[in-house]
Amino acid sequence: MSRQPDHLVDLRSDTVTKPTEGMRRAMAQAEVGDDVYGEDPTCRALEDRVAELLGKEAALFTVSGSLANLLAVHTVVQPGQEVLCEARAHIARAELGGHAAVFGVTTRTWSHPRGLVDLDAIEAMLAPDAGPHFVSTAAVSVENTHNLGGGSVQPVPTLRALRTMATQAGVAIHLDGARLWNASVATGVPVHVYAELADVVTVCLSKGLGAPVGSLVAGSARHIAEARVWRKRLGAGWRQAGVLAAAGLYALDHHIERLAEDHAHAQALARTLAERLDGVAAVSDAETNIVVIDLPSSGPAAPKVAERARAEGVLVSVLGPSTLRLVTHLDVGADDCAWAGDVLARAIREG
Ligand SMILES: *Cc1c(COP(=O)(O)O)cnc(C)c1O
Repeated sequence: MSRQPDHLVDLRSDTVTKPTEGMRRAMAQAEVGDDVYGEDPTCRALEDRVAELLGKEAALFTVSGSLANLLAVHTVVQPGQEVLCEARAHIARAELGGHAAVFGVTTRTWSHPRGLVDLDAIEAMLAPDAGPHFVSTAAVSVENTHNLGGGSVQPVPTLRALRTMATQAGVAIHLDGARLWNASVATGVPVHVYAELADVVTVCLSKGLGAPVGSLVAGSARHIAEARVWRKRLGAGWRQAGVLAAAGLYALDHHIERLAEDHAHAQALARTLAERLDGVAAVSDAETNIVVIDLPSSGPAAPKVAERARAEGVLVSVLGPSTLRLVTHLDVGADDCAWAGDVLARAIREG
Protein backbone atom coordinates (compact mmCIF):
# COMPACT_ATOMS: atom_id res chain seq x y z
CA MET A 1 0.00 0.00 0.00
CA SER A 2 1.37 3.45 -0.88
CA ARG A 3 1.47 6.41 1.52
CA GLN A 4 -0.19 9.75 0.97
CA PRO A 5 2.41 12.37 -0.02
CA ASP A 6 2.51 15.63 1.97
CA HIS A 7 1.50 17.60 -1.16
CA LEU A 8 -1.27 17.46 -3.76
CA VAL A 9 -0.64 15.09 -6.66
CA ASP A 10 -1.82 17.17 -9.60
CA LEU A 11 -2.36 14.99 -12.67
CA ARG A 12 -4.85 17.31 -14.39
CA SER A 13 -2.31 18.42 -17.00
CA ASP A 14 1.39 18.80 -17.68
CA THR A 15 0.75 22.56 -17.84
CA VAL A 16 0.64 22.78 -14.03
CA THR A 17 4.41 22.52 -13.55
CA LYS A 18 6.17 25.39 -11.77
CA PRO A 19 9.57 26.70 -12.91
CA THR A 20 12.49 25.01 -11.15
CA GLU A 21 15.19 26.93 -9.24
CA GLY A 22 17.60 26.57 -12.18
CA MET A 23 14.98 27.83 -14.60
CA ARG A 24 14.17 30.82 -12.38
CA ARG A 25 17.89 31.68 -12.23
CA ALA A 26 18.11 31.53 -16.04
CA MET A 27 15.08 33.84 -16.28
CA ALA A 28 16.55 36.32 -13.78
CA GLN A 29 19.81 36.47 -15.72
CA ALA A 30 18.31 36.73 -19.21
CA GLU A 31 19.60 39.42 -21.54
CA VAL A 32 16.58 41.30 -22.86
CA GLY A 33 15.53 44.01 -25.32
CA ASP A 34 12.36 45.16 -27.05
CA ASP A 35 11.11 42.15 -29.01
CA VAL A 36 8.62 44.20 -31.05
CA TYR A 37 11.69 46.03 -32.43
CA GLY A 38 13.34 42.62 -32.92
CA GLU A 39 15.89 43.54 -30.27
CA ASP A 40 15.47 40.83 -27.65
CA PRO A 41 18.54 38.59 -28.00
CA THR A 42 17.09 35.81 -25.86
CA CYS A 43 13.86 35.65 -27.92
CA ARG A 44 15.96 35.57 -31.10
CA ALA A 45 18.12 32.79 -29.66
CA LEU A 46 15.06 30.71 -28.71
CA GLU A 47 13.44 31.21 -32.12
CA ASP A 48 16.66 30.30 -33.95
CA ARG A 49 17.22 27.27 -31.75
CA VAL A 50 13.70 25.88 -32.26
CA ALA A 51 13.77 26.58 -36.02
CA GLU A 52 17.01 24.61 -36.22
CA LEU A 53 15.73 21.74 -34.04
CA LEU A 54 12.68 21.45 -36.29
CA GLY A 55 14.60 21.87 -39.55
CA LYS A 56 12.60 24.98 -40.50
CA GLU A 57 13.74 28.38 -41.83
CA ALA A 58 12.22 30.39 -39.01
CA ALA A 59 10.19 30.27 -35.80
CA LEU A 60 8.10 32.70 -33.76
CA PHE A 61 7.71 32.67 -29.97
CA THR A 62 4.10 33.07 -28.77
CA VAL A 63 2.29 33.32 -25.47
CA SER A 64 0.35 30.06 -25.90
CA GLY A 65 -0.02 26.97 -28.03
CA SER A 66 -3.48 28.14 -29.02
CA LEU A 67 -2.04 31.37 -30.44
CA ALA A 68 0.74 29.41 -32.19
CA ASN A 69 -1.89 27.13 -33.78
CA LEU A 70 -4.13 30.07 -34.69
CA LEU A 71 -1.25 31.80 -36.53
CA ALA A 72 0.06 28.57 -38.06
CA VAL A 73 -3.28 27.53 -39.53
CA HIS A 74 -3.95 31.07 -40.75
CA THR A 75 -0.72 31.09 -42.74
CA VAL A 76 -1.90 28.08 -44.78
CA VAL A 77 -5.72 28.40 -44.81
CA GLN A 78 -7.59 31.40 -46.26
CA PRO A 79 -10.89 32.64 -44.75
CA GLY A 80 -13.72 30.39 -46.00
CA GLN A 81 -11.43 27.43 -46.66
CA GLU A 82 -11.22 24.34 -44.49
CA VAL A 83 -8.65 22.41 -42.51
CA LEU A 84 -9.22 18.67 -42.07
CA CYS A 85 -8.44 17.27 -38.62
CA GLU A 86 -9.33 14.46 -36.24
CA ALA A 87 -12.64 14.94 -34.42
CA ARG A 88 -11.04 15.49 -30.99
CA ALA A 89 -8.14 17.64 -32.24
CA HIS A 90 -7.15 20.52 -29.98
CA ILE A 91 -7.69 23.00 -32.86
CA ALA A 92 -11.27 21.78 -33.29
CA ARG A 93 -12.28 21.18 -29.67
CA ALA A 94 -10.09 23.07 -27.25
CA GLU A 95 -9.40 26.51 -28.71
CA LEU A 96 -12.86 28.02 -28.23
CA GLY A 97 -13.51 28.08 -31.97
CA GLY A 98 -10.71 30.62 -32.44
CA HIS A 99 -9.83 29.54 -35.98
CA ALA A 100 -13.43 30.20 -37.06
CA ALA A 101 -14.04 33.22 -34.84
CA VAL A 102 -10.85 35.08 -35.79
CA PHE A 103 -9.85 33.85 -39.23
CA GLY A 104 -12.99 32.35 -40.85
CA VAL A 105 -11.48 28.87 -41.06
CA THR A 106 -13.86 25.91 -41.14
CA THR A 107 -13.02 22.34 -40.13
CA ARG A 108 -14.10 18.91 -41.30
CA THR A 109 -13.13 15.92 -39.24
CA TRP A 110 -12.38 12.21 -39.37
CA SER A 111 -12.61 10.06 -36.24
CA HIS A 112 -10.10 7.63 -34.82
CA PRO A 113 -10.30 6.10 -31.32
CA ARG A 114 -6.71 7.17 -30.56
CA GLY A 115 -6.72 10.32 -32.67
CA LEU A 116 -4.49 8.86 -35.38
CA VAL A 117 -4.30 9.84 -39.04
CA ASP A 118 -6.77 7.88 -41.19
CA LEU A 119 -5.42 8.03 -44.74
CA ASP A 120 -8.54 6.57 -46.39
CA ALA A 121 -10.84 9.01 -44.62
CA ILE A 122 -8.60 11.96 -45.49
CA GLU A 123 -8.31 10.91 -49.13
CA ALA A 124 -12.10 10.72 -49.34
CA MET A 125 -12.50 14.20 -47.82
CA LEU A 126 -9.71 16.10 -49.63
CA ALA A 127 -11.28 18.71 -51.90
CA PRO A 128 -8.53 21.17 -52.85
CA ASP A 129 -10.62 22.84 -55.54
CA ALA A 130 -14.24 22.29 -54.61
CA GLY A 131 -15.73 24.75 -57.08
CA PRO A 132 -18.32 27.51 -56.53
CA HIS A 133 -20.47 25.66 -54.00
CA PHE A 134 -18.48 23.48 -51.62
CA VAL A 135 -15.69 24.40 -49.20
CA SER A 136 -12.17 23.91 -50.55
CA THR A 137 -9.57 22.10 -48.46
CA ALA A 138 -6.40 24.09 -47.82
CA ALA A 139 -4.71 21.97 -45.15
CA VAL A 140 -4.70 18.78 -43.11
CA SER A 141 -3.84 19.10 -39.43
CA VAL A 142 -2.16 16.33 -37.44
CA GLU A 143 -1.79 16.32 -33.65
CA ASN A 144 1.31 14.50 -32.38
CA THR A 145 1.06 13.30 -29.70
CA HIS A 146 -2.72 13.33 -29.73
CA ASN A 147 -3.94 14.73 -26.43
CA LEU A 148 -7.52 13.49 -26.16
CA GLY A 149 -6.54 10.31 -28.03
CA GLY A 150 -4.50 9.42 -24.92
CA GLY A 151 -1.06 10.83 -25.76
CA SER A 152 -0.85 8.59 -28.83
CA VAL A 153 2.05 8.87 -31.26
CA GLN A 154 1.41 9.18 -35.02
CA PRO A 155 3.36 6.48 -36.92
CA VAL A 156 6.01 7.92 -39.29
CA PRO A 157 5.10 5.72 -42.31
CA THR A 158 1.53 7.04 -42.16
CA LEU A 159 2.81 10.62 -41.90
CA ARG A 160 5.02 10.05 -44.96
CA ALA A 161 2.05 8.72 -46.92
CA LEU A 162 0.00 11.73 -45.82
CA ARG A 163 2.80 14.07 -46.96
CA THR A 164 2.72 12.50 -50.42
CA MET A 165 -1.07 12.66 -50.59
CA ALA A 166 -1.17 16.31 -49.46
CA THR A 167 1.58 17.38 -51.85
CA GLN A 168 -0.20 15.73 -54.78
CA ALA A 169 -3.44 17.49 -53.83
CA GLY A 170 -1.64 20.82 -53.32
CA VAL A 171 -2.75 21.19 -49.69
CA ALA A 172 -0.58 22.07 -46.71
CA ILE A 173 0.06 20.08 -43.53
CA HIS A 174 -0.17 21.67 -40.10
CA LEU A 175 1.44 19.74 -37.23
CA ASP A 176 0.12 20.53 -33.75
CA GLY A 177 3.20 19.37 -31.90
CA ALA A 178 2.32 20.70 -28.45
CA ARG A 179 3.78 17.40 -27.20
CA LEU A 180 6.03 16.58 -30.16
CA TRP A 181 8.92 16.29 -27.65
CA ASN A 182 7.07 13.42 -25.97
CA ALA A 183 6.54 11.67 -29.31
CA SER A 184 10.24 12.01 -30.11
CA VAL A 185 11.44 10.75 -26.73
CA ALA A 186 9.00 7.81 -26.83
CA THR A 187 10.01 6.68 -30.34
CA GLY A 188 13.59 7.93 -30.74
CA VAL A 189 12.52 9.70 -33.96
CA PRO A 190 14.12 13.19 -33.96
CA VAL A 191 11.64 16.08 -33.89
CA HIS A 192 12.91 17.38 -37.25
CA VAL A 193 11.83 14.13 -38.94
CA TYR A 194 8.26 14.79 -37.83
CA ALA A 195 8.52 18.50 -38.60
CA GLU A 196 9.89 17.96 -42.12
CA LEU A 197 6.65 16.15 -42.99
CA ALA A 198 4.63 19.31 -42.25
CA ASP A 199 4.62 22.88 -43.63
CA VAL A 200 3.87 24.64 -40.36
CA VAL A 201 4.59 23.21 -36.93
CA THR A 202 3.75 24.33 -33.41
CA VAL A 203 5.48 23.19 -30.22
CA CYS A 204 4.85 24.01 -26.56
CA LEU A 205 7.41 24.78 -23.89
CA SER A 206 4.87 25.01 -21.08
CA LYS A 207 3.68 21.39 -21.10
CA GLY A 208 6.10 18.58 -20.29
CA LEU A 209 9.10 20.85 -20.74
CA GLY A 210 8.06 22.79 -17.64
CA ALA A 211 8.44 26.42 -18.78
CA PRO A 212 5.90 28.79 -17.20
CA VAL A 213 4.74 30.27 -20.53
CA GLY A 214 5.37 29.85 -24.22
CA SER A 215 5.01 28.03 -27.51
CA LEU A 216 6.46 28.49 -30.98
CA VAL A 217 5.26 28.25 -34.55
CA ALA A 218 7.87 27.22 -37.12
CA GLY A 219 7.86 27.12 -40.90
CA SER A 220 9.19 28.89 -43.98
CA ALA A 221 10.58 32.43 -43.60
CA ARG A 222 7.54 33.74 -45.49
CA HIS A 223 5.02 31.93 -43.26
CA ILE A 224 6.75 33.10 -40.10
CA ALA A 225 7.04 36.70 -41.29
CA GLU A 226 3.28 36.66 -41.85
CA ALA A 227 2.66 35.04 -38.46
CA ARG A 228 4.78 37.78 -36.83
CA VAL A 229 2.62 40.51 -38.40
CA TRP A 230 -0.59 38.81 -37.27
CA ARG A 231 0.75 38.20 -33.76
CA LYS A 232 1.23 41.96 -33.41
CA ARG A 233 -2.09 42.72 -35.11
CA LEU A 234 -3.85 40.53 -32.54
CA GLY A 235 -2.18 42.48 -29.76
CA ALA A 236 0.22 39.74 -28.79
CA GLY A 237 3.51 41.45 -29.59
CA TRP A 238 5.61 41.57 -26.43
CA ARG A 239 8.52 43.60 -25.25
CA GLN A 240 11.24 42.20 -22.93
CA ALA A 241 9.92 38.67 -23.45
CA GLY A 242 13.46 37.32 -23.12
CA VAL A 243 12.76 36.53 -19.45
CA LEU A 244 10.25 33.96 -20.76
CA ALA A 245 12.40 32.83 -23.68
CA ALA A 246 15.19 32.11 -21.19
CA ALA A 247 12.90 29.65 -19.41
CA GLY A 248 12.25 27.99 -22.77
CA LEU A 249 15.95 27.71 -23.62
CA TYR A 250 16.59 26.25 -20.17
CA ALA A 251 13.77 23.73 -20.73
CA LEU A 252 15.25 22.67 -24.08
CA ASP A 253 18.64 22.14 -22.41
CA HIS A 254 17.44 20.28 -19.32
CA HIS A 255 13.95 18.91 -19.66
CA ILE A 256 13.67 16.97 -22.93
CA GLU A 257 15.40 13.68 -22.11
CA ARG A 258 13.75 13.50 -18.71
CA LEU A 259 10.35 13.15 -20.42
CA ALA A 260 11.21 9.43 -20.45
CA GLU A 261 10.62 9.50 -16.66
CA ASP A 262 7.15 10.95 -17.18
CA HIS A 263 6.41 8.18 -19.66
CA ALA A 264 7.65 5.51 -17.22
CA HIS A 265 5.48 7.01 -14.47
CA ALA A 266 2.42 7.04 -16.74
CA GLN A 267 3.07 3.43 -17.74
CA ALA A 268 3.40 2.32 -14.11
CA LEU A 269 0.20 4.18 -13.25
CA ALA A 270 -1.65 2.63 -16.21
CA ARG A 271 -0.41 -0.85 -15.20
CA THR A 272 -1.57 -0.45 -11.60
CA LEU A 273 -4.96 0.81 -12.72
CA ALA A 274 -5.39 -1.88 -15.39
CA GLU A 275 -4.59 -4.63 -12.84
CA ARG A 276 -6.79 -3.23 -10.10
CA LEU A 277 -9.66 -2.34 -12.44
CA ASP A 278 -9.55 -5.42 -14.64
CA GLY A 279 -13.05 -5.81 -16.09
CA VAL A 280 -14.28 -2.68 -14.26
CA ALA A 281 -12.89 0.14 -16.42
CA ALA A 282 -10.84 0.48 -19.61
CA VAL A 283 -7.40 2.03 -19.08
CA SER A 284 -5.35 3.31 -22.05
CA ASP A 285 -1.79 2.08 -22.67
CA ALA A 286 0.11 5.25 -21.77
CA GLU A 287 2.19 5.46 -24.93
CA THR A 288 3.62 8.72 -23.57
CA ASN A 289 2.63 10.79 -20.51
CA ILE A 290 -1.18 10.52 -20.67
CA VAL A 291 -3.51 7.87 -19.24
CA VAL A 292 -7.21 7.85 -20.12
CA ILE A 293 -9.71 5.89 -18.01
CA ASP A 294 -13.10 5.01 -19.50
CA LEU A 295 -15.57 4.17 -16.75
CA PRO A 296 -18.45 1.75 -17.31
CA SER A 297 -21.94 3.23 -17.41
CA SER A 298 -22.89 1.02 -14.44
CA GLY A 299 -20.18 2.52 -12.22
CA PRO A 300 -19.60 5.93 -10.62
CA ALA A 301 -19.60 8.99 -12.90
CA ALA A 302 -16.28 10.64 -13.71
CA PRO A 303 -16.98 13.87 -11.73
CA LYS A 304 -17.73 11.79 -8.63
CA VAL A 305 -14.50 9.80 -8.95
CA ALA A 306 -12.56 13.04 -9.44
CA GLU A 307 -14.17 14.52 -6.34
CA ARG A 308 -13.32 11.47 -4.22
CA ALA A 309 -9.75 11.49 -5.49
CA ARG A 310 -9.44 15.20 -4.68
CA ALA A 311 -10.47 14.49 -1.09
CA GLU A 312 -7.39 12.25 -0.89
CA GLY A 313 -5.04 14.74 -2.49
CA VAL A 314 -5.15 13.57 -6.13
CA LEU A 315 -6.34 15.90 -8.90
CA VAL A 316 -7.43 14.50 -12.28
CA SER A 317 -9.23 15.90 -15.36
CA VAL A 318 -12.80 15.02 -16.21
CA LEU A 319 -13.02 14.78 -20.02
CA GLY A 320 -16.62 13.60 -20.17
CA PRO A 321 -19.32 11.96 -18.04
CA SER A 322 -17.40 8.67 -17.99
CA THR A 323 -13.86 9.67 -18.97
CA LEU A 324 -10.91 10.74 -16.82
CA ARG A 325 -7.48 11.91 -17.95
CA LEU A 326 -4.25 11.71 -15.94
CA VAL A 327 -1.10 13.45 -17.16
CA THR A 328 2.36 12.91 -15.67
CA HIS A 329 5.01 15.66 -15.61
CA LEU A 330 8.07 17.19 -13.98
CA ASP A 331 6.33 17.82 -10.65
CA VAL A 332 5.04 14.29 -9.97
CA GLY A 333 7.28 11.39 -8.93
CA ALA A 334 6.93 7.61 -8.79
CA ASP A 335 5.57 7.69 -5.21
CA ASP A 336 3.00 10.31 -6.18
CA CYS A 337 1.82 8.11 -9.04
CA ALA A 338 1.67 5.02 -6.80
CA TRP A 339 -0.58 6.94 -4.41
CA ALA A 340 -2.73 8.23 -7.28
CA GLY A 341 -3.14 4.67 -8.62
CA ASP A 342 -4.32 3.39 -5.23
CA VAL A 343 -6.70 6.29 -4.67
CA LEU A 344 -8.27 6.11 -8.14
CA ALA A 345 -8.63 2.32 -8.16
CA ARG A 346 -10.39 2.52 -4.79
CA ALA A 347 -12.62 5.44 -5.83
CA ILE A 348 -13.68 3.64 -9.02
CA ARG A 349 -14.16 0.18 -7.44
CA GLU A 350 -16.04 1.41 -4.40
CA GLY A 351 -17.99 3.94 -6.51
C1 LIG B 1 -2.08 22.29 -24.71
C2 LIG B 1 -2.23 22.09 -26.15
C3 LIG B 1 -2.15 23.16 -27.04
C4 LIG B 1 -1.94 24.60 -26.62
O1 LIG B 1 -2.56 24.97 -25.48
P1 LIG B 1 -2.35 26.39 -24.76
O2 LIG B 1 -3.00 26.12 -23.45
O3 LIG B 1 -3.04 27.39 -25.58
O4 LIG B 1 -0.90 26.65 -24.65
C5 LIG B 1 -2.26 22.88 -28.38
N1 LIG B 1 -2.43 21.64 -28.81
C6 LIG B 1 -2.50 20.58 -27.99
C7 LIG B 1 -2.66 19.21 -28.56
C8 LIG B 1 -2.41 20.76 -26.63
O5 LIG B 1 -2.49 19.71 -25.82
